[in-house]
Amino acid sequence: MAVLKKAGREEVIRQLLWAYPDAGCALHFNSIFQLLVSVVLSAQTTDKSVNEVTPGLFERAPDARTMAALPTEEIQEMIRRIGMYRTKAANVSKLSRILADTYGGNVPQDYDRLVELPGVGRKTANVVLSVAFGEQRIAVDTHVFRLANRTGLTQETDVLKTELALMKAIPKQHWTAMHHALIFHGRQVCSAKKPRCEECCIRGACLRNGL
Ligand code: SF4
Repeated sequence: MAVLKKAGREEVIRQLLWAYPDAGCALHFNSIFQLLVSVVLSAQTTDKSVNEVTPGLFERAPDARTMAALPTEEIQEMIRRIGMYRTKAANVSKLSRILADTYGGNVPQDYDRLVELPGVGRKTANVVLSVAFGEQRIAVDTHVFRLANRTGLTQETDVLKTELALMKAIPKQHWTAMHHALIFHGRQVCSAKKPRCEECCIRGACLRNGL
């Protein structure tokens, strides 16, 4: 499988950053803890669905200590409209307890500590570190994985390899912005089932254009 040459990569990066200058996290939150919980809840479901359940959840339990004090069944009840709500409620309860007991209720700015928390994987840790702490990170979700490998920015078969390849293909100062731009482009133009290549701003460089 082919990958884009340097000029093609630069074109994709330039066009996407130009097209989505304000791309950012679509989840609604008022603290780093709430961001972390929202990202955990967003696994295999849409940000929109998460944003529909979190206002009630965060009104009831805005921080780690109050969340840890809630019965897991109550968390389940408040998030039951999203997928895997039982598992996610258990993870939110456990991670809140760990944050309350070990980190004074705060979310650690540390990748290794983040991925030790229940329900927190590589993607979630990267989103929290980039959105909350301003670190340059590329979190690979379903949109980023699809776009990266369709365009030819990378040609990889799994999420971790795609993340590592994107870190090589994209200058570090653009990692976070490109993460968001790829998600926006995936949602708005290059959907999984029906990419709209004829109106795509990177059709001149994309290896998948029209195929
Ligand atoms: S040209 Fe088509 S396949 Fe390539 S990024 Fe655009 S919409 Fe997606």
